[in-house]
Amino acid sequence: MSGQDGASAHVHDLIGVGIGPFNLGLACLTQPTGLDAVFLDREDGFRWHHGMMIEGATIQVPFLADLVTMADPTSEFSFLNWLKRTGRLYPFYIRENFYALRAEYDAYCRWAADRLPNLRWNHEVVAIEHDAAADVYLVRAMRTDTGEEIALRARHVVVAVGTRPSVPAPLRGLGGPAIHSSEYTDHRDALQASGSITVVGSGQSAAEIYRDLLDHARDGGYRVDWVTRSPRFFPMEYTKLTLEMTSPEYTDHFHALPLGLRQHLGREQRSLYKGISADLIDDIYDTLYRLSASGPVPTTLLTDTEVTAAEWDGANYRLRLRHGQLDTEHERDTASLVLATGYAAETPPFLSPIADRLDWDGLGRLAVARDYSIDGGRGRVFVQNGEEHTHGLTAPDLGFGAWRNSSILASIAGREIYPLERRIAFQDFGVPADARSTAPAAAATPGLEVAR
Ligand SMILES: Cc1cc2nc3c(=O)[nH]c(=O)nc-3n(C[C@H](O)[C@H](O)[C@H](O)COP(=O)(O)OP(=O)(O)OC[C@H]3O[C@@H](n4cnc5c(N)ncnc54)[C@H](O)[C@@H]3O)c2cc1C
Repeated sequence: MSGQDGASAHVHDLIGVGIGPFNLGLACLTQPTGLDAVFLDREDGFRWHHGMMIEGATIQVPFLADLVTMADPTSEFSFLNWLKRTGRLYPFYIRENFYALRAEYDAYCRWAADRLPNLRWNHEVVAIEHDAAADVYLVRAMRTDTGEEIALRARHVVVAVGTRPSVPAPLRGLGGPAIHSSEYTDHRDALQASGSITVVGSGQSAAEIYRDLLDHARDGGYRVDWVTRSPRFFPMEYTKLTLEMTSPEYTDHFHALPLGLRQHLGREQRSLYKGISADLIDDIYDTLYRLSASGPVPTTLLTDTEVTAAEWDGANYRLRLRHGQLDTEHERDTASLVLATGYAAETPPFLSPIADRLDWDGLGRLAVARDYSIDGGRGRVFVQNGEEHTHGLTAPDLGFGAWRNSSILASIAGREIYPLERRIAFQDFGVPADARSTAPAAAATPGLEVAR
């Protein structure tokens, strides 16, 4: 039965908005708790970055970074259980590679989603309101398959709507066949048929697309160029003491820093997770080497080169390129363009009806508390993967999803359902607890000898 506000009278403990890996993990971890939870997504089913489902691509974190294992290794929703249930456990064991194929991760997540009764697809959330009288949240959604509007009530809301493809201003609204990397596999054939392709970007996606196109360039009769404004094609850093920064205690440290310093560190730390896997860089080199053995390879690789403008003339893009160190400009023509220019978190517009209940920082972004809540310490509205500016590099990391979900569930349930490690690293990121402070000694108590 629905109330005056059109919302069903039933109050859920939790509504999750968005069913990507992070809220899907939350749904799996919530399942055995008895909490009354519903999860909404505007898509018609789970599909993980389908435009980047390149054959042979792997995920960049070990398989233990699945939806549940780091929180509950006994969960039925684990990647290992999926391997067992699908008859892939022994081949995976023999393969001896920690990194699952991207296609496997996608299939595993869809398998987990199919086992959960409380996921509602084709539900686009359009507004979140607060019912002050009942002190609950109203989540309004539009069915993308029927156009029907629904409203549900909940005591807690967890927003995990991911990030959006991001394109630098000079490259927006270009016209012509330019695409963002998130749509790559849907356009691969057309790109190869265009005769010349330019990939713009310095991250894993740019490298994977370049590698995928390079192999068939000469035989396929097209050229593929790779342009990045980064000073070099830099690898993601995977050394173990650096990986210790993907930890609760480094997140504590980062979160406690002043905004300005977090901004600076955020930029500085990009290379830790926005670079290219070292194996892929070497694989690209080896491919260039192999191809060059039988003649010139139809490719150009440009670093420290920014695309400052692009004009589509109906057949080609005329790119204007600026070389950073030389401070010179030059032009290049290309028939097609792949913008592997990354993703950015946005504050979802559906939060605006409750904006006055939320915390904002000096730059108009959500001021996400350490427990991932955004509602002035009430601990009722949370975000996932929207807190890179407050929590640092753990925000988009699949390896940290289970810890964050355990923390959010502990806040919702008022108890630690899954053990929350407070300290996992060997190193200290701030001042060690046993440090002796250098503050000047307190004034001597009259008559007390102070040793000199
Ligand atoms: C190609 C690619 C590969 C990556 N590989 C890795 C990796 O190997 N390891 C790693 O640690 N990280 C990786 N990442 C980073 C990150 O982990 C992923 O982006 C991950 O998918 C983020 O999960 P999410 O749940 O935050 O968001 P998403 O997966 O983006 O899911 C968000 C969901 O919210 C839904 N949604 C959005 N708005 C609404 C709305 N208004 N109403 C209802 N639903 C809505 C969307 O339909 C979507 O299903 C990768 C990123 C990309 C782009």
